[in-house]
Order: sequence, then structure tokens, then C-alpha cells
Amino acid sequence: MFSKKLKRLRQNNLSRIIKDRGSAPKSNTGHMDAGPGQFFTQIPSRISIDGTEYINFASNDYLGLSGNRLLMEAAKEAINIYGFGPGASRLLSGGTELHTELEKTVAAFKDTESALIFNSGYAANISAIPCIADEGDTIFSDELNHASIVDGCRLSRAKKVIYPHKNISNLSELLKNDKGSLKIVITETIFSMDGDIAPIRELYQLCLDHDAILYLDDAHGTGVLGDGHGALKHFQLKTAPWLIQMGTFSKALGSYGAFIAGSRNVTEWLINTGRGFIYSTALPACVVAASVAALEIIQKENGPVQTLCRTLWKNRERLFNGIRDLGFNIINSESPIIPVSTENVETALRFSEHLMKHHIYAPAIRPPTVRTPRIRFTVTAAHTDKDIDRLIDVMKTAKLNALI
Ligand SMILES: *Cc1c(COP(=O)(O)O)cnc(C)c1O
Repeated sequence: MFSKKLKRLRQNNLSRIIKDRGSAPKSNTGHMDAGPGQFFTQIPSRISIDGTEYINFASNDYLGLSGNRLLMEAAKEAINIYGFGPGASRLLSGGTELHTELEKTVAAFKDTESALIFNSGYAANISAIPCIADEGDTIFSDELNHASIVDGCRLSRAKKVIYPHKNISNLSELLKNDKGSLKIVITETIFSMDGDIAPIRELYQLCLDHDAILYLDDAHGTGVLGDGHGALKHFQLKTAPWLIQMGTFSKALGSYGAFIAGSRNVTEWLINTGRGFIYSTALPACVVAASVAALEIIQKENGPVQTLCRTLWKNRERLFNGIRDLGFNIINSESPIIPVSTENVETALRFSEHLMKHHIYAPAIRPPTVRTPRIRFTVTAAHTDKDIDRLIDVMKTAKLNALI
């Protein structure tokens, strides 16, 4: 079964392999007050695969919180109190007080009336989008939106209109001419594969003008933009009843799971209709506890996260400038996601192998995940200047050896 299809994938260099990691090396001190690099019990900028250590430029753990002691301790304590498996969906008996607490914390964090937890960002998008956009409605979706948004749209009975990437004038025309009873515009905030940022201010105004709903997938903006509060704060925009924000705990927040934040009506509707919410076991309490801890860290004014956010953006500038100055073709990056495009799939694979040989981990991203092959670097607050300069150095040798 599938052998012909698999053979074709392999022949085209498009077959994927899983590379699972071993435990990361531990940092010496584990003290929070010893500076960002010492904030972790595990060093999140390192990855160990088959016993070899690499500098990891392939993680979405932008603030390095996944190895943070406070998250880990919160999770352990929750296991002691609530056990491990939740046993049922939230509507049966799977939820705990921690689930409610996390939703309250998220709503305060996002300045919305209400919030609802989902088991993952993928589950949030494929569950929420079909509930929000029904038959007779129209969804306007950016052409580069994440697969989970694409799948959410496919599951919806609404009409789907794909607009060219970030093209406001085109979208404006499409909205003007559409007769849908409800219009829903869906975009990522920081685009996950290109690293550019959606024109949220213009989209916000456009949705106001056309009486449309704006659905923001802030998976990569949460913890990264607006002092960690996300894209809306970054653009200094206010929440509104027609605005729905999806975010994840699984990237910069170092935990797992996702949320939808919006008006009470929105979350109530999702509790009653969201299939990924109703028909799936709740998140374990320990995961929820870690997310609460992550949000508490982020919300502390002038606390370690402000330092981490600043370090993240400083590191981003250092790596971006270094790669740009070498003359590589960076695809539109405006964020800690820095993709370098390659001529073809083979070059991307060769480039990635060269990096691995020099103990740098950044896999090639190939179709169908993206249209054009690339190496996608993500830089985090946990990287040191030395880590970043090492990557730039290795890229220089790749260039000199005409590997790319
Ligand atoms: C990662 C991601 C998701 C999925 O989130 P998970 O919690 O990993 O399932 C959804 N949307 C975007 C834009 C993402 O990058």
C-alpha cells in the first residue's frame, strides 16, 4: 500500500523524516536572577540528536520558557493534585479549576470579555472557523495562511475567497463586492513560514468599514509582539466584539494548547458548537498549570520576560543583519522567523546538511509546507551572541564553498 506514492516522494526529495531529540544539556545554575541565559534548568538553545549536540535554530520556543523552572514546577504540583490524564472532555468531567483559571488569565491578558482553551492551535482553528463561518457567509483568507486555517475553512459551509498575500486593496474590492450575510477575514499575525507581519491596522479598519469579523491567528505573535501580549497590543489596537483572537501556549509560552479570546457570545457559541472542544478529551491539568505559570511570568511588569523579549528582538537583529550582509535571499522577514530561500529542494537539503555538519540545526522546509524551498531559521532569547555569530560564520563557509 502507498508504495508508489511513497516512491514518488522519495524520488523528488520530498519525503519527510522525524528527528527526535534527546535531553538538552542542563545549565549550570538554573537561577532566574542570573540573566536570561541562566533562567532555565535546560538550555533551550541546544538540541541533542542521536547523541550529538547542535545549536537549535528550529524551535518556536522564542523566550526559552519551555525549560523554565516555574513552568516545570507548576506542572509537577498540578500532577500531585489532579493526577495525570483528564479522563473526559471538558463538558463531561475533564476540566479542573485550573482550566477556568487559565481562561480568566487569558481574558485579562488579552483584555477580552472571555476566553476558551483548545487542545492545540490546530484544533482551535479547525473547530472555531466552521462555527464562526456558516452557510451563506463568506470567509476571506490570506493565501499564505497556515494549514490549520486552510483546513478550518474547508470544514466550513461558508464560501471561501483567498486573497493575495497581505493585499489590502484587493481584499477591499472583494469585500465590497461580496453578498455574504456575514464576512470573516482570517489572517496570521506573524506568518509562520515567511516571518513577515500582516497589516493588522489596515485589516482592522477594513473590517470596521465592511462590518466584517476579523479572526487573528496570533500563534507566533503571542509572547513575541507587544511585550508578549500579541499583535493587537503591538499595533495599539483595542479589542472589539467583531474581533476574534486565536493564540497558542505552545510556542513562545513554552507550554502546550491554544486559546480563542473574544466576546462572551463567541466563547459561548464555541462551547456549544466547537467539535474539537466538545468531542475531545480536555488538556491535562499539568499542561494547563504550566500555561498559567507562563502567562504569570509574561505579565510581570519589568520582570524577566521584558528582558527576554528585548533579548529576543536584539538577537533577531543580529542574525538578520548577519545573514543579509552575506547576501543571502531572506524572504520578507520582520520577526524572529528568518527564512532563507534556496534555488531548489536539493540546495535546501545540501545547505541543511552543511549546517548539521557544523552542529547547527535548521531543517529544510519544502513543498507542500511552502511553495518555494527554504531554510527557516528561528532565533530565540536563549541564543547567545556567540551562537548567532557561529551560525553566520557557518553560512559564510557555505557561500564560499558555493553550497548555496
Ligand atoms: C503552530 C501554528 C498553529 C498550530 O498550533 P499548535 O498548537 O502547534 O497546534 C496554528 N496556526 C499557526 C499560524 C501556527 O504557526
